[in-house]
Amino acid sequence: MSDIVKDIENFFVRNRDRFAYIHAGMFIVFVVLILVPPFLPLPDEDAAIWNNFTLLVRFLIWGIWFPLVLLSVIFFGRLWCGLLCPQGAMAEYAGKIGLNRSIPRWMRWQGMPIISFIFITIFAQLVGARDYPLTAMEVFSGTMILAVLVGFLYTSGRRPWCRYLCPIGPLLGIFSRLGAVSLIPPVPPLEKGGYRGDWDGKGCVCPTFINTSTKVASSNCIECFRCVNPETSASLHLKIRHPGLETEEIKNREPNIWEPIFLFLATGLALGAFHWQASRFYIQYKQALGDFLLNMGLGDFIGRSGPWWLMVNYPDAGEVFIWLDFISITTFLLESMVMVATILFFFTAISAVLLREKEEIAATITRLGYVYAPAALVSLVLGLGLILFQSMIDLGLSKKTVQVIQEILFAGGGAWSMYLAFRLQERWSLAIIPNLFGIGFIAFAWHKVLF
Ligand code: SF4
Repeated sequence: MSDIVKDIENFFVRNRDRFAYIHAGMFIVFVVLILVPPFLPLPDEDAAIWNNFTLLVRFLIWGIWFPLVLLSVIFFGRLWCGLLCPQGAMAEYAGKIGLNRSIPRWMRWQGMPIISFIFITIFAQLVGARDYPLTAMEVFSGTMILAVLVGFLYTSGRRPWCRYLCPIGPLLGIFSRLGAVSLIPPVPPLEKGGYRGDWDGKGCVCPTFINTSTKVASSNCIECFRCVNPETSASLHLKIRHPGLETEEIKNREPNIWEPIFLFLATGLALGAFHWQASRFYIQYKQALGDFLLNMGLGDFIGRSGPWWLMVNYPDAGEVFIWLDFISITTFLLESMVMVATILFFFTAISAVLLREKEEIAATITRLGYVYAPAALVSLVLGLGLILFQSMIDLGLSKKTVQVIQEILFAGGGAWSMYLAFRLQERWSLAIIPNLFGIGFIAFAWHKVLF
């Protein structure tokens, strides 16, 4: 195993300078996939991915790229970010000719990536980024321009966008803690977190601002391999570990309260995003909200449509949102987010109280909050992968087989979370029950969307 690890390290270090070609290639792919479809006519009813470029691109982005990038962190950590993501790479190149200002305080606030995620998720739903190439271009090009601008303004040679503002950064970060790979300093971790040794990490500028000499957490590591040098035992090294190990050892791996908070909120937001499109409850909610706004004398306003860049407005495709849709979708998503987050926090807090550890209660809640990561990850991948599973059926796999695959993965995510609950509590006790209710709640809510 250690020979393979050495070979991988050598490969990445030897080819580090050639990453630029990969970045250039990915940028060209980005341009073709994002900028070409808006100039093509919308697909006909009977068009399919093998005879229509717009549908092919939709399948590649939403059916393949998004779910697989999330899933990839289990096997490769955040390699996507360091090696393939065109936004992060372009932001870093912009920094090389940029103003090199220091990062403002507001950007370093740890809630910023959460706000970025919430904003982009709701915005993408409102403008129909998944179904309409014009607004997909708006979302992806808009974030690309922002990433480049942030890279140009702040800290030359680094990636402030990836660390502080990327909307999917926190999602990949928290799930990368479940991943099978990690880059670690040369000496083993201490009980209280941090590493001891004479290596001080000098000479390495980590693009995501990690102190490489005391690195114990993977969440912000984009696996650029800049801190790796197989020639010396003093550099960071690649470590293959069993998936989930870092979360099992979270006590000593820089647990961060913002990560469970994000996990709770993101689970609620994602559930809201899937539920509003399919649930009767949303229709009732929209009617009640419409009646309320009508009684307030806003009937004229809520019945009007808005510009395409703010909400779906495609009369030719027979889909036009009015302001009532805009307000209903936004508030439904936010309410779903707060409700799910509150329920998960409630179950976690009860578990923490029952566990009665010697540490502060907030520390126990933080630690136990990571329990839901596997169930949330697998559910999200299955939800985002619905297009992929449908394509498997279209390609000839029986519906039953596809459903069995989905159910096995779904059950696997839940079982993994339960195992994690046991590992984090270190014993069977009553305290585990609320955590299990939390896992059951996530499974129940996602089951309604997926099956
Ligand atoms: S810790 Fe090393 S591999 Fe990870 S982002 Fe920083 S420099 Fe790159």
